Amino acid sequence: MKLTVLCDNHTVIDRYLLGEPALSIYIENGRDRILFDTGYSDVFIQNAMTLGIDLSHLSAIVISHGHNDHTGGLFHLLNRFDLSGTRLIAHPDIFQKRIYDGLDVGCPISRAFCEEKGLIITETRDPVKLSENLYYLGEIPRQTAFESRFPTGEIIGRGNRIPDYVMDDSALAYLSEEGPFVITGCSHSGICNILLAAVSLYDRRVKASGIIGGFHLLQESDPLEETVRFLKDHTCGTLYPCHCVSLRAKCRLMQELPVREIGTGEVIEVQ
Ligand SMILES: [Zn+2]
Ligand SMILES: [Zn+2]
Repeated sequence: MKLTVLCDNHTVIDRYLLGEPALSIYIENGRDRILFDTGYSDVFIQNAMTLGIDLSHLSAIVISHGHNDHTGGLFHLLNRFDLSGTRLIAHPDIFQKRIYDGLDVGCPISRAFCEEKGLIITETRDPVKLSENLYYLGEIPRQTAFESRFPTGEIIGRGNRIPDYVMDDSALAYLSEEGPFVITGCSHSGICNILLAAVSLYDRRVKASGIIGGFHLLQESDPLEETVRFLKDHTCGTLYPCHCVSLRAKCRLMQELPVREIGTGEVIEVQ
């Protein structure tokens, strides 16, 4: 499986690609071409064109969760290309209206718009096999005591507002012999909870063979030390923390674990 980061907060020197505080990863696995998240704007499309990646023929689009830094580009993607007949796989909550700090941070387009554009939508809380050895993990059970304790803004319902624990937040796992390689969006559900969900797809005890994506380690209140301890016990490969991981968290992870910096345009081959 080959992963290309189409959009991240960081860009790599000498490549002249565009960055934005958002995430999008293009996945090639055998004959399958899967787009995981779409960034905030059309930046990921511009980068794909620069990199010679054709987004007009996708096997599937998978959305990690409904926040606009992962779904904003969908509008541009569906307007730019005819993707009718393409599968869209996500949790049923991704189209909810949500606010954070008074700002609208939900998915800017509706389910109806996606249907109008011909997408075949699979809304599910269960794991889905996307491609050979590659799975969407569905709703992540919140198992660890130290993660996902606080809401991220609110969900706006019919006449009410409820704290948003981003229950739609999910990830992908590529099941290699050594253990799952995890591809995550923002990890609101907890990066350790996501690893546990990925490992549960095996019928034997394994460690994660790698992780790329946002670990959601940003603020002082985030459980950095507990996460470092957990990752030391439950991973055996390289970590590529990006998007919503602070410099402080990256440095701390780097002290204890094999960490590689990653940014827009970077390519990773996973065996
Ligand atoms: Zn988010
Ligand atoms: Zn995010």
